[in-house]
Amino acid sequence: MQQKAFYLETFGCQMNVVDSERIVDLLEGIGYAQVDAADQADLVLLNTCSVREKAERKVYGHLGRFKPIKDQRPELIIGVGGCVAQQEGEKMLETVPYLDLVFGIHNVHRLPELVLQAEEKHLRGTATEFLDRETRLNLFPQRSVRDNVTRFVTVMQGCDNFCSYCIVPHVRGREVSRPSREIVAEIEGLVAQGVREVTLLGQNVNSYGLKEEGEISFARLLHKVDQVAGLERLRFATSHPKDMTDELIDCFGQLDKLCKHIHLPVQSGSDRILKLMNRGYTANDYLRKVERLKTVCPQLRLTTDIIVGFPGETEEDFQATLAMVEKVRYADAFTFLYSPRTGTAAAELNDDQSSVQKQERFERLCAQQNRNSEEAWQADLGEVLPVLVEGESKQGDGQIFGRTTWNRIVNFAGDKELIGKIVPVRIAKVFRNSNLGELP
Ligand code: SAM
Ligand code: SF4
Repeated sequence: MQQKAFYLETFGCQMNVVDSERIVDLLEGIGYAQVDAADQADLVLLNTCSVREKAERKVYGHLGRFKPIKDQRPELIIGVGGCVAQQEGEKMLETVPYLDLVFGIHNVHRLPELVLQAEEKHLRGTATEFLDRETRLNLFPQRSVRDNVTRFVTVMQGCDNFCSYCIVPHVRGREVSRPSREIVAEIEGLVAQGVREVTLLGQNVNSYGLKEEGEISFARLLHKVDQVAGLERLRFATSHPKDMTDELIDCFGQLDKLCKHIHLPVQSGSDRILKLMNRGYTANDYLRKVERLKTVCPQLRLTTDIIVGFPGETEEDFQATLAMVEKVRYADAFTFLYSPRTGTAAAELNDDQSSVQKQERFERLCAQQNRNSEEAWQADLGEVLPVLVEGESKQGDGQIFGRTTWNRIVNFAGDKELIGKIVPVRIAKVFRNSNLGELP
């Protein structure tokens, strides 16, 4: 029998990356092999993101690309998963007549069943129901290892924070944390298969275990993972500042394997906007945590997320954000223009700013942050830094690549034998998104 082929595109956050790894395993389980061009595939899937309207609109644009292929080969199966699928459900099948299947956030495990139904009975199908806590705990993704040096390990799913602008709690459902012993066992298994670095993943890892009776705190979990023999590095994402305890901050001064980088989304520097965003901290609360972090770990570098143009943002509010950026001196920032999401509290707020004004502020913020990023990364020029080598570089030319403790990519000429090892690399050139290094 000829092997069937699938093509998969993933958008959005690391949660979707993990879900996509699971999708690959499930499809291989029913006889499919992954290909990197849609026109060679029998099955095309998009794993989607709906955090901003633009990302959501793009899904329909991307689906349009596959229509001519389907016109030529009507047996082609087209499916959509992820946050847009969760949100739109059945409606997507009505809007896009050539779409065959829609599977939501809690239904990745049902993908093989939907695909087989489409293959054998030419049935179009949707699976978007939310599952109960127990079932979700049993379905936490375990994925096969394919020569990976680094891996994401999901420690919790969902979000209960309901930041007023954010669609995530609406599409990913309530928070559930996985038992700590299962997480540690998974990491031990990964290390035995060659993994050297893990990133513990959740929408808000800092609230890990808080709602599970008898479960340890996230800081304790970090201590346990730090003790896994053979593991070299440990990271986590994402942190919510309101749940960043002193116990957790102190881990950066105590745990050898914990990398010296934290992504701590601030969103705004204005107390008035932070309150409207329902973030649960003030600018001063945030700064106090940053100060403690820098005290326990002076080499720590911070990155953040910032939203510009939240409804009602004034020049004064925006200046407070610029002031925050100057005080913290982030090594990098993801900056977003506010995008109203139907169903969220902020979408109901009156918004009187013009898009020109929002764009102008956005550009001012980016210019300031770019200067800071440049300064942070240029500081590494000429330094010899430990780099965990992850694989062959996309740059080609026999180069390999790895990351510094600050999660910065370094490409350099080196033997593939070094993959999986931490090696000292001199930073020879600094670019916007990566460094060029050389073995000293
Ligand atoms: N849970 C994570 C957290 O709280 O940091 C991140 C979740 S979200 C996928 C990533 C980032 O998208 C957020 O930190 C926020 O800056 C941005 N974001 C979320 N909703 C947005 C919206 N409606 N408009 C613009 N940016 C948004
Ligand atoms: Fe969205 Fe806030 Fe939850 Fe992050 S913490 S996923 S921004 S609601």
